[in-house]
Amino acid sequence: MSTVFDELESNVRTYCRKFPAVFVRARGHTLWDRDGRSYIDFLSGAGALNYGHNHPAMKAALIDYLTADGPVHALDLHTEAKAKFLDRLDRIVLRPRGLAYRVQFTGPTGANAVEAALKVARRATGRTNVIAFTNGFHGLSLGALAVSGNLARRSASGVTLGDVTRVPYDGYLGQGVDTLDYLERLLDDAGSGVDAPAAIILETVQGEGGLAAAGPAWLRRLESAARRRGIVLIVDDIQAGCGRTGSFFSFEEAGLTPDIVCLAKSISGFGLPMALTLIRPELDVLRPGEHAGTFRGHNLAFVTAAVALDLWSSPQFTADLGKKCLLLDERVRSLTAAGATERGRGMLRGLFFSEPSVAARISRAAFEKGLLLETSSATGQVLKIMPPLTIEDSVLHDGMDILADTIQEVIHEKSG
Ligand SMILES: *Cc1c(COP(=O)(O)O)cnc(C)c1O
Repeated sequence: MSTVFDELESNVRTYCRKFPAVFVRARGHTLWDRDGRSYIDFLSGAGALNYGHNHPAMKAALIDYLTADGPVHALDLHTEAKAKFLDRLDRIVLRPRGLAYRVQFTGPTGANAVEAALKVARRATGRTNVIAFTNGFHGLSLGALAVSGNLARRSASGVTLGDVTRVPYDGYLGQGVDTLDYLERLLDDAGSGVDAPAAIILETVQGEGGLAAAGPAWLRRLESAARRRGIVLIVDDIQAGCGRTGSFFSFEEAGLTPDIVCLAKSISGFGLPMALTLIRPELDVLRPGEHAGTFRGHNLAFVTAAVALDLWSSPQFTADLGKKCLLLDERVRSLTAAGATERGRGMLRGLFFSEPSVAARISRAAFEKGLLLETSSATGQVLKIMPPLTIEDSVLHDGMDILADTIQEVIHEKSG
């Protein structure tokens, strides 16, 4: 049966092919389709729905704002909603962590925040080259794509993607190798062929590239290597940030202070499009209008984002999140008995299957049983487990039970 989606929507659509339901309602960790079936959401909008769907406090604030005719679109004019968001960001997130950043509102997608970060770093240093890592993902606009690894996505661009030197991420060459030995040698050797870089850009957990997580010691060494050489350190925290790894920023565990941080996906808290780049004040070098855009800081997103940040001032919220990370860790580790290797950190986890099609088959079979979860990495061999941070323990168990059963079934079907 052909649908309006098949007839009209571009061939480039993806998620809907894997999960071909028509969704009509969403609340917390649950999605409902138009046939009345419910699904536990371990997809979480690829990280845009850390607080689940239609969080009641955010929804109420949004309705109040609309009822009062608060300005929805305002270019980058001052609004009360923006002031409130900036105040919360500073008071709840930045100051308690000793971070002093300027906030650059970019266009509303993660790729926009990455483009801004790269532009700022290149302008501030006067250099063009950027160091990026194997299996990194930073978005699909050309600058962001140039620092991304995935072959299929890169080759679809149709242009040369340059000014980037790719180096191995932590663990890329196996556990015995510290890949920073190679990077530091490249940076210090006039014969390496690598131009002095403006920036090093990385994710602390590679959300799209297979859920590898960099170790804290490796991250600290990377930071000091960058600092010693005047290289701008950019952490792309678009997917791993906003609480995903258990702390607000993913680099807190390692104790980093990046020069630039990119945030998008869950910064609005509600799934509304919004992105920003946090910049060390000395690097805030762009002149007014040099990185303009029509949708820079959306007021509806400011309203829900302020409510989301308020959650972080509750010790109960952070304590609950810590417990949920431990619970998920336990459940994920128990699944490695089935021959998978666990990856990731906090509430951003993965299971690597050496058999190429297994992860995709598990994802498909789980969908049939009412559990949404996707695959990650260039080969799709990693099952990505990403429940909302606010999921109730009992539902987290239900979802993991479905997953455990599905893995057994798929593995048996293969051998049987
Ligand atoms: C999703 C993502 C991006 C790109 O964000 P878009 O909103 O899709 O442009 C960039 N970096 C990381 C780490 C991401 O996960």
